[in-house]
Amino acid sequence: MKEETNYWKINNPTTGDEYIQLASELLKQGEVVAFPTETVYGLGADARNQEAVAKIFKAKGRPSDNPLIVHVANREQMKQYVTQIPDVAHRLIERFTPGPLTIILESNQTLAKNVTAGLSTVGIRIPDHPVALALLQACNLPLAAPSANQSGKPSPTTANHVYEDLNGRIAALLDGGPTSVGVESTVIDCTGEIPVILRPGGITKEDIESLIGPVMVDPGLADESLRPRSPGMKYTHYAPEVPLYLVQGDAQAIQNQIDAFQQKGKKVAVIVSKEYADQLVAPDIQMVGSRNHLEEVARHLYDALRHFKEQDFDVILCESFPYDGVGQAIMNRLTKAATKQIG
Ligand code: AMP
Ligand code: MG
Repeated sequence: MKEETNYWKINNPTTGDEYIQLASELLKQGEVVAFPTETVYGLGADARNQEAVAKIFKAKGRPSDNPLIVHVANREQMKQYVTQIPDVAHRLIERFTPGPLTIILESNQTLAKNVTAGLSTVGIRIPDHPVALALLQACNLPLAAPSANQSGKPSPTTANHVYEDLNGRIAALLDGGPTSVGVESTVIDCTGEIPVILRPGGITKEDIESLIGPVMVDPGLADESLRPRSPGMKYTHYAPEVPLYLVQGDAQAIQNQIDAFQQKGKKVAVIVSKEYADQLVAPDIQMVGSRNHLEEVARHLYDALRHFKEQDFDVILCESFPYDGVGQAIMNRLTKAATKQIG
């Protein structure tokens, strides 16, 4: 598509809103529309329409073997696309949806084949965002919606990020302000005996285990020699324009690295917590919140990764965060974004 993307700011997220209605019409006609969710911005299309779904892959440059998450408006609609909902999945749905949790279930094969990339399973979630919910209700369609970025780049957490990546490639973009969670949904496979976390995200392992007891974490997440069970986790992701080095250790360890790179004449950028920022002397520091409030770090992480442009810097040095709670998701994304781990 050559025309400019329609950019619509949503001030009143209800089904009757003029722009929600226009976006809903576009979706019914088989076009793709970007919209905010509580995790990141999504790029939606009618999940029953193979041609519409193909436009998502094309606009993003996404590999066709990477399945899409299907977004629905309510729990009733979740049942329409799966063969059955096991008891654990029921309990997760009751507690955590709407919310940043995607549940993998056996598909009943009623959705377009390219949504699930030929798998027998489908990932479904109910987003917890007024714009996303108003849009889903207005169009009354299941929306296949991956993150609305160019494949490989950090996911978009503002409408501006989407615009940067996809202007002219999609029919419309709904601006609902910055997203609140900032990292993608947790993906949990509930098709087996024991549920398996395939991607850490907005709902933590601790949250899940306090409800349903022990779950497994896909070993492929930690060990690069194993094939991850979530096809998308094998791709390079979240990559900033400037090489990112993930630094183990405290603020002093980061300062030592800053000094060493500067001595070699390198232009250094830094992504750190406010606790570390207070102790550092560096030319360009992006602060992502407190180490003691990792939700804050998650919310600001992708904007920080997108902040530095390749013409301005040689290297980004980034703090390593604790693996507690949403720290799992943060460190999963950072290790994937990193060229190297040092220190
Ligand atoms: P994105 O929507 O860009 O955040 O990516 C969706 C993630 O969910 C990717 O890592 C996909 O591989 C994963 N995913 C979606 N559907 C399935 C499925 N049926 N089985 C396993 N992983 C899935
Ligand atoms: Mg994505």
